Amino acid sequence: MEIKIIKNTNPAVKPADESKLGFGKIFTDHMFTMDWDIDKGWHDPKVVPFENLSIHPGSTVLHYGLEIFEGLKAYRTADGEIRMFRPLENAIRMRNSAIRMSMPQIDPEFMVKAMETFVSVEKDWVPKGFGTSLYIRPYMFGDDADLGLHGLKHARFLIIASPSGSYYAGGLDPVSIIIEDEDVRAVKGGTGTAKCGGNYGASQRAGERAEARGYSQVLWLDGVERKYIEEVGSMNIMFKIAGKIVTPMLNGSILPGITRKSIIELLKSENVPVEERRISVEELVSAAKDGTLEEVWGCGTAAVVSPVGWLTYKDTKYEINGGKIGPVTQRLYDELTGIQWGTREDKFGWVYPVK
Ligand SMILES: *Cc1c(COP(=O)(O)O)cnc(C)c1O
Repeated sequence: MEIKIIKNTNPAVKPADESKLGFGKIFTDHMFTMDWDIDKGWHDPKVVPFENLSIHPGSTVLHYGLEIFEGLKAYRTADGEIRMFRPLENAIRMRNSAIRMSMPQIDPEFMVKAMETFVSVEKDWVPKGFGTSLYIRPYMFGDDADLGLHGLKHARFLIIASPSGSYYAGGLDPVSIIIEDEDVRAVKGGTGTAKCGGNYGASQRAGERAEARGYSQVLWLDGVERKYIEEVGSMNIMFKIAGKIVTPMLNGSILPGITRKSIIELLKSENVPVEERRISVEELVSAAKDGTLEEVWGCGTAAVVSPVGWLTYKDTKYEINGGKIGPVTQRLYDELTGIQWGTREDKFGWVYPVK
């Protein structure tokens, strides 16, 4: 399929101060759109000027939440090259999300081409500073004008983008998180492995409760026994316990993060073993008590690696590594961001230059 490009003749003035970009608040001049219907399949892919959507008030997504999305970044290197990080992984995960939600699939190679074409039009929107990026948000929603929920007949796919500041404007600061033992995010057989909007809707209450108590995110437990560690709000979680790196295995309710996968591949290439297994909250708390919980970090596209300095469970707050970033966390952050922003060699071929 040919992607048509209709340029915005009235582009916005780009923000001059990159330190004030924040996250997800400013949008670029264009968007990618493509429509699907049951007879024609995907058709009419195009990059068009950014504008509000017109949507039928009875549209499926507004009533039944049929929505999936992805999130990745375009980075600018010191010599001006624009690149994405493992975009094919996002496209494959989007297809898996579509399968789970019974939504139309997009050929992953085509989705990469769509992202590349779109980013190439928006090149000037990729900020320059180390740590800044153009956040890319592909998403799809069911769009039948029908309050009866049947197999979808119409869907829309879009890509929008937002220039984003460095996640760690004030340095790599450890965060506090709290283990949630009432609400659950997902259960095996549910939609936890799909990147769908509904998972975030289900997480909102606990997230707000945590924020009101001064925590940056919640750490979810499994939905059946509330006993095993799953993941953080929008990140996977990793621990260093008595010298070993452990992370919850992909058990059918955890989101398979690309940052998680990249860290595991990176460590394995250095012969550092990573145990992917069930980790109970008891194991974690007892390690925190006897001092063998050496490091905790979250990992996801937005923050890359986020050190956890404090972990609360049932009103007891445990400090990890004196509330300071640990050496493994720091090294992983340096390594991944170095590959992404082009200051370190990309031995794995993860970087995808945008022409
Ligand atoms: C997107 C996401 C992650 C992180 O995935 P990355 O591919 O590393 O960005 C982790 N957990 C949830 C719930 C997510 O939505």
